Amino acid sequence: KSFAAAALPPKVLDCCKGFDKPSPIQALAWPYLLDGRDFIGIAATGSGKTIAFGVPALMHVRKKLAEKGAKKGMPRCLMLAPTRELAQQIADVLTEAGAPCGINSVCVYGGTSKGPQISALKSGVEIVIGTPGRLKDLIEMGICRLSEVSFVVLDEADRMLDMGFEPEVRAILSQTSSVRQMVMFSATWPFAVHQLAQEFMDPNPIKV
Ligand code: AMP
Repeated sequence: KSFAAAALPPKVLDCCKGFDKPSPIQALAWPYLLDGRDFIGIAATGSGKTIAFGVPALMHVRKKLAEKGAKKGMPRCLMLAPTRELAQQIADVLTEAGAPCGINSVCVYGGTSKGPQISALKSGVEIVIGTPGRLKDLIEMGICRLSEVSFVVLDEADRMLDMGFEPEVRAILSQTSSVRQMVMFSATWPFAVHQLAQEFMDPNPIKV
């Protein structure tokens, strides 16, 4: 109901300064996501969903980096979106939100040269945000390794499948850690999305 009640480190909540209280989707999602549950949200843009999954993603990365012998600069968290614009919006939020915690992000998408994206990946990032086509290319080039990714977000999952990205999404998910937490947001709940959830998520995800 309030940011104080969420009992999160101030550095993680830095991205929420200026907001009065968590949005409904944030208040709903945070306890489950912080508890490690898989989560399906049927929510529209404008609901505050980026921070609903962004804050738990930062907490997840912090926890992983605190583990003994953990290496910095490897992707731990992956966020897939259907379009460059959406990926960039998510990346803008996560880049700013991660900065106080020393957590770095990269945004990868097609239609532009790979060079800067490759450099960013090589410089070391904990969060990879992108569109499926370009990300799959970078994986196949051996530039992006997802084996330590244990927190995955599929944003606008229905649109991603409508755009024909299902093979890429499947190929990418299969490269992530088998022990992973998954979050899916979708505006609608068609069979293809349901099927993807059944295949890649816990048998009993939270659905809101
Ligand atoms: P999103 O649904 O993630 O695209 O967010 C939509 C807009 O809501 C963005 O401009 C956010 O900055 C804003 N926002 C996110 N969380 C909150 C909140 N708790 N209170 C007010 N505005 C918020």
